[in-house]
Amino acid sequence: MCKSLIVASEHPQEYYDEIKQRFAEERDLRLSYRPEGTAQFTSDLTGDFARYTVDPYIEEVLEREPIDDEVEVLFIGGGFSALLTAARLREVGVESIRIVERGGDVGGTWYWNRYPGVACDVIAYDYLPLLDEMGYVPTRHYAEGWEILDHCRAIARRYDLYELAVFQTTVTSTVWHEDERLWHLTTDRGDTMRARFVICANGTLSKPKLAKIAGMETFAGHSFHTSRWDYEYTGPNLENLGDKVVGIIGTGATAVQAIPNLAEHAKELYVFQRTPSSIDIKNDWETDPDWAAKLKPGWQAKRRQKAMTTPLLSQVQIDERATTSREEKIRRQENANIDYMMRIHRRIDEIVEDKETADALKPWYMFMCKRPCFHNEYLPSFNRPNVHLVDTHGEGITEIGPKGPIFHGVEYPLDLLIYATGFEVQKTGIWNQIVGDNGVELNDKYADGVRTLLGIHSNHYPNLFIMGGYQASFNFNLTDVLQSQGDHIAACIDYVRRNGHTTIDVTYDAEEWWVQEVIEHRGKTSRNAECTPGYYNFEGEFNRRQDGNYNGGFPAYIEHMRAVRDDMEHNFTFT
Ligand code: NDP
Repeated sequence: MCKSLIVASEHPQEYYDEIKQRFAEERDLRLSYRPEGTAQFTSDLTGDFARYTVDPYIEEVLEREPIDDEVEVLFIGGGFSALLTAARLREVGVESIRIVERGGDVGGTWYWNRYPGVACDVIAYDYLPLLDEMGYVPTRHYAEGWEILDHCRAIARRYDLYELAVFQTTVTSTVWHEDERLWHLTTDRGDTMRARFVICANGTLSKPKLAKIAGMETFAGHSFHTSRWDYEYTGPNLENLGDKVVGIIGTGATAVQAIPNLAEHAKELYVFQRTPSSIDIKNDWETDPDWAAKLKPGWQAKRRQKAMTTPLLSQVQIDERATTSREEKIRRQENANIDYMMRIHRRIDEIVEDKETADALKPWYMFMCKRPCFHNEYLPSFNRPNVHLVDTHGEGITEIGPKGPIFHGVEYPLDLLIYATGFEVQKTGIWNQIVGDNGVELNDKYADGVRTLLGIHSNHYPNLFIMGGYQASFNFNLTDVLQSQGDHIAACIDYVRRNGHTTIDVTYDAEEWWVQEVIEHRGKTSRNAECTPGYYNFEGEFNRRQDGNYNGGFPAYIEHMRAVRDDMEHNFTFT
């Protein structure tokens, strides 16, 4: 990864300036192709596109009578956000907990993403939550998707979350009724549920999106999105692809994991690339049983605590930083970042035999402008004679005909076209269904910018908690953020119950303080604007300053949470 500040740059400054110039040109090229930003995608998958959201993993559509009842806590979504928080709520004695989930089981991301090769490239001992509570040690350094999904199910069983859960059910409206001090929810199954507390646990990247490509609905072959993998078509081990010509659009973190498997099994594989990912080595291994046996109770909590409290910089570095100008710090950081990215380039040259393909696979942007990837078989896949990289150099596929994608007049006939085009980011389409105590939809409240305290509470939406959303901290290990939020939410609900209150709502002032805090920290860096477009920077929509993560750092975020809870009566109103 990027070197520390005290390491001198490896090359003369002109070298770095030239590369930065190339980064800027590559970014501008992409912005010129897609000035419409996030509007280049659609997640309104209805009509012709409805089949891209159908759940291929359920055995049958469940038939059940509509539910008309009241619970204490209701989760919209059944992924890690819900599971982690529900576990904490059980610990403080909350009995009536319901998960309402669109899919056929708990698991969220890990329920939907079952593409071949799916794995998590965050270390499993950190990523999988509640390992202490569950008495579980992951089987590998980097867990595969099936193991994570199994862990989700085990948590749901351990904390009795299946009892009231409803699956294959989508919440369609969430409206606060002040007279009853309850949320009323409706669903696509005709349910009318009431809940004292509602937790939006519907994920940050949960709704599949498609690039809007002219003629895509005319494609006559088979097609699906990576989060709805059609194993009936491909075969459970992709054995049906031996006589199939397969294409995949996109080369993000999902495609990087799926492509090596497709390469191995498809007759021909066409990879339609717009921007390459950065691919580093994945140091994976099976968990050493001797190491696992020696772990003491509470090991994961200790590991987390250590990660949080270990200083990132040594005293020498801290002293040096104090005497280094801001400009110089940025310059050195950028140079170290460029050194890292050029190492990524060299690795491509070492592995990929065809020079033109190797060059096309080189990412020209700063590390972390896009989600970094770690994979040992992705780059070698391009040495296979059946794998063809169709590099669109920033332009992307803009046309699909009945036979397949068309790029610069060349048509690529396919049997199967796979969309690895990602997910709608964070809003996940539900804010227009949440109506607060003033009759205003959350979406309308957010029209001029997101407004929350800690990304969790929003004024006029009593007893509503939002997880994983905008204005929360970013951390490469998302479950750390979700766990901290789950702990906070459970503590808030516990406070309401213990003090004989019915509702909790954040004050306008506390919310305004946090909005300004988010804006201030986001303003400290021009990095978003300098990055190549992607979902990290809203595809180049740079004006949305408060609609993003809190950039003050994860430890500071946790401290703020603690401080907010230390002064509950000041930050919230209760009834
Ligand atoms: P992404 O949004 O990251 O990638 C979408 C891809 O589609 C990009 O490569 C994009 O190119 C490409 N694309 C979009 N439109 C076109 C077009 N018209 N023609 C060609 N290509 C196009 O989605 P992913 O599903 O890959 O990943 C989403 C997130 O899921 C990751 O960032 C990560 O957070 C998470 N994830 C995590 C994993 C883990 O190990 N923990 C594994 C897999 C996913 P461009 O870059 O130019 O926009």
